[in-house]
Amino acid sequence: HVIIVWFRRDLRLEDNPALSAAIDSGASVLPVYIHAPEEEAPWAQGAASHWWLHHSLTALDQCLRERGSYLHICHGATLENLRELIVSTGAQAVYWNRRYEPACIARDKCIKQALRDDGIEATSFNGALLIEPWQIETGQGDPYRVFTPFWRKLRANLQIEAPQPAPQRIETKKAEASVALNSLNLRPKIPWDSEFGAHWLPGEFGAHESVQQFCEAALRDYKVERDRPDHFGTSRISPYLHFGEIGPRQIAWMLDQYARNESSAVLHEAAEPYLRELGWREFSNHLLYHFPHTPEKPLQAQFDAFPWAPDDAVALARWQRGQTGIPIIDAGMRELWRTGWMHNRVRMLVASFLTKNLRQHWRHGARWFWDTLVDADLANNTQGWQWTAGSGADASPYFRIFNPVTQGYRFDPDGAYVKRWVPELADAPLKLVHEPWLDPALLQRTGYPSPMVDLAATRTAALDAYQRMRNV
Ligand code: FAD
Repeated sequence: HVIIVWFRRDLRLEDNPALSAAIDSGASVLPVYIHAPEEEAPWAQGAASHWWLHHSLTALDQCLRERGSYLHICHGATLENLRELIVSTGAQAVYWNRRYEPACIARDKCIKQALRDDGIEATSFNGALLIEPWQIETGQGDPYRVFTPFWRKLRANLQIEAPQPAPQRIETKKAEASVALNSLNLRPKIPWDSEFGAHWLPGEFGAHESVQQFCEAALRDYKVERDRPDHFGTSRISPYLHFGEIGPRQIAWMLDQYARNESSAVLHEAAEPYLRELGWREFSNHLLYHFPHTPEKPLQAQFDAFPWAPDDAVALARWQRGQTGIPIIDAGMRELWRTGWMHNRVRMLVASFLTKNLRQHWRHGARWFWDTLVDADLANNTQGWQWTAGSGADASPYFRIFNPVTQGYRFDPDGAYVKRWVPELADAPLKLVHEPWLDPALLQRTGYPSPMVDLAATRTAALDAYQRMRNV
């Protein structure tokens, strides 16, 4: 018999539950990817993610071909495509790994029902999370809204087990009329992506390499170094996780094995803060599943009344282009544009600057990230923006407003991060690198802009706005 394996955000062969189940049943398999961005509206993948997707699909197809198979690509309505493939291959079943974005949940539910009505077996699996969002609840039977107890419970029940190996060979039932990957036009027409290839190797191989490199170079000091954008202190695994080129269970296993092989209790301990960050990803998905309105609206309803400043397209554009005149903010926004990624500490700073100092709605920032991040992820992005804006679950209190100058001196103490991404300041003396406006001659000489807002005054205005909301 024949089973269609519908690949989505699980672009890997190792530890892929839908693929394993299909192969283990003894069936011939048709691996399929269906490009249907309109079905994910209003959060169809943005431009940088499309770049990644193109290369990831290329890598997956190659891995499949090495095993006697291939990736069958379709374009257009998913259900219609699946039905055509069922007819042309005689498949009796469709297997896939679950997604948790509201539009995907609704779409997948309809597809499952429609296929079952057609007499086709339709089965979904968990390939992306350590725990399904509905499998964990508070003592009162509610979804969690606070991270620490969520993580405590998840961690206590976490079994770190060996992942299923990638299949050696995949018996494949070919279908007709696969479209060429290039015809999906995933790569940009204007080559703003020219530097991406130097930073990333999309696909399962690149994912494993990244974890391995991280274990060797950065795991030991992760707890401290994770806040240093000037160092290689984090794993940079987020786009691989987003596209499912590796799953969190595999990462947990790799860390565990690495620590064992090095027979080091220190490494075992060092892995805990890292696992905890994977826990934030779980928490974000838990929140998105239980509070599906949050990509658009605040989780804390009182923030509906927050007095945002009127939309300011000019201010937004300066922020987007890294021309705010605040060095660490501009460094982050330029890193994002050039590489499709930004360090977590700096994400928090640029988000705080946009939502508090400029008082622009967090949704404008979330949209820009959505289009420019290679790891753009509805669960993590929504949670990150709402957390910084103060309106999310377990959010930082609104009145804690980051000061980008003191944060700069603290987490980029040599100014190396700023100097890397803001070449105008490459020769600035250390005492000026995070506040170059103290020397107007430096600004004049380098052409670096003066700050677009007064940090102290806008901080006070943000606190006033917060008080007004609380008084409503
Ligand atoms: P590591 O420090 O090596 O962490 C390992 C993994 O844990 C990450 O890949 C990620 O999957 C998870 N993780 C780490 N920190 C967080 C966090 N705070 N929340 C949720 N998961 C986390 N992450 C995305 O994957 N996609 C997004 O679209 C996204 N948008 C964000 C927007 C804002 C405003 C903020 C403040 C954070 C956002 N994050 C997002 C979370 C975080 O910044 C990135 O996951 C992290 O920087 C990725 O780098 P890394 O893989 O080196 O992280």
